[in-house]
Amino acid sequence: MLTNAPDLPAGPPGHVAVVGTGIIGVCCARALQRDGHRVTLIDRNPLGEGASFGNSSVLATESVVPVATPGIWRQVPKMLLDPLGPLSLRWQYLPQLTPWLLRFLAASRPEAVERISLALQALLDDAIPSYRQLLKDAGAEELLVRRGWIAAYTTEAGLQSYRRLAELQHRRGVEVAELSVAEMRQMEPALTPELAGGFYYPQVAHALDPQRVLLALAELVQRHGGRILRRDVVGFRVAEGRVEAVETTDDSLDCDAVVVAAGAWSKELAKRLGVKVPLDTERGYHLTIPTPGIALSRPVYSTEFGMACTPLASGLRLGGTVELGGPVAAPNWKRAQVLAKRGLQLFPDLDTREASRWMGFRPSLPDSLPVLGPAPRASNAVLAFGHGHLGLTLGARTGRLVADLVAGRPAAIDLAPFAATRF
Ligand SMILES: Cc1cc2nc3c(=O)[nH]c(=O)nc-3n(C[C@H](O)[C@H](O)[C@H](O)COP(=O)(O)OP(=O)(O)OC[C@H]3O[C@@H](n4cnc5c(N)ncnc54)[C@H](O)[C@@H]3O)c2cc1C
Repeated sequence: MLTNAPDLPAGPPGHVAVVGTGIIGVCCARALQRDGHRVTLIDRNPLGEGASFGNSSVLATESVVPVATPGIWRQVPKMLLDPLGPLSLRWQYLPQLTPWLLRFLAASRPEAVERISLALQALLDDAIPSYRQLLKDAGAEELLVRRGWIAAYTTEAGLQSYRRLAELQHRRGVEVAELSVAEMRQMEPALTPELAGGFYYPQVAHALDPQRVLLALAELVQRHGGRILRRDVVGFRVAEGRVEAVETTDDSLDCDAVVVAAGAWSKELAKRLGVKVPLDTERGYHLTIPTPGIALSRPVYSTEFGMACTPLASGLRLGGTVELGGPVAAPNWKRAQVLAKRGLQLFPDLDTREASRWMGFRPSLPDSLPVLGPAPRASNAVLAFGHGHLGLTLGARTGRLVADLVAGRPAAIDLAPFAATRF
């Protein structure tokens, strides 16, 4: 049970300011409106230009396994030596990253993985139905399709190590079936025959465009009277343990409650609400190819390459990899080029000539769980950030849970594993 539930609104609904117009902020805003609140979304950038713009668009409900798994520490030297590997670390950023990295490695202990995967399972439950409802309200149901996804392995060693993770998924109730190469190619004829095997997750869904999902939901919020303001939030006016106003570089905005959903940039704002969180970023890249020369029916994922290949309305997106390099350094576009090379390994007929490239900042806590709960020192502030690899997947679910918190209702799941104070 919550020990510090915000005290809005047992009485009449109020005005809630939501910082961040990524998928998390927009979903929170809509869920709050459904409770009768007036909402103002605030972002320093144009709508949906953060991580929510260019992700791989998969509602990855099978992701009950954290990023750090037992034995990942063995990869640290490789992470440092290969700047183009699927998981890499920038040397220059190592001093700042070390505390995060140590926590990340601690989260890979078997007992921690077990605990984290239970928390992920609870959060992921209901992720797709929550979206269906939201998109239906927005008149954009067609953006969500459920055709499952395939995890493909090029080596026997990769396949073997994945079987252990699939076993954990299985224990968490994830529907998963091992596939032969012939079965995989029957489902996705564009796949190379040079594979060791793979897995199929029939319950996974994907969006035809994550940006269109976000824009449709933002329009829904506006249609119901929500405002979207372009402002840089720098802090809060707090009196007697309650946020009275959001302070921006231009002005201050009075509110009855606030939600911090500022993605990878939420750390400073959380600090201003009294809590230090080890939030960092796992930078990722994509290539989107309007005319890829191949057709996929569903996303195909490669853990070995850290890459998802998703058929979108606008073409094929090759997205993923993790670069631990902090929120400031310029992109290393060679990493995006590697995606093209890996794409060709999986799909020999792929044509990458027309690809556009992008880099985004996953907001990541070292234990692969978001911060989702009340701010410890401001009773009417809710923190909702750090969704890492699962921000799109968990958007609608997060919105509902945040609305519960703002209303002071018991949340549908135990939120203790997501407390900002867990570190
Ligand atoms: C390559 C890649 C592939 C991915 N694939 C998937 C996938 O397939 N499925 C999935 O579920 N997830 C995926 N993700 C993760 C997902 O994209 C993120 O977890 C999610 O977008 C985070 O959403 P957000 O709303 O928290 O952050 P963002 O979308 O980054 O939004 C945060 C917003 O806050 C604003 N902001 C920050 N600070 C301030 C401030 N001080 N004042 C005002 N505004 C501020 C920013 O401008 C930004 O617009 C992927 C990520 C990457 C990089």
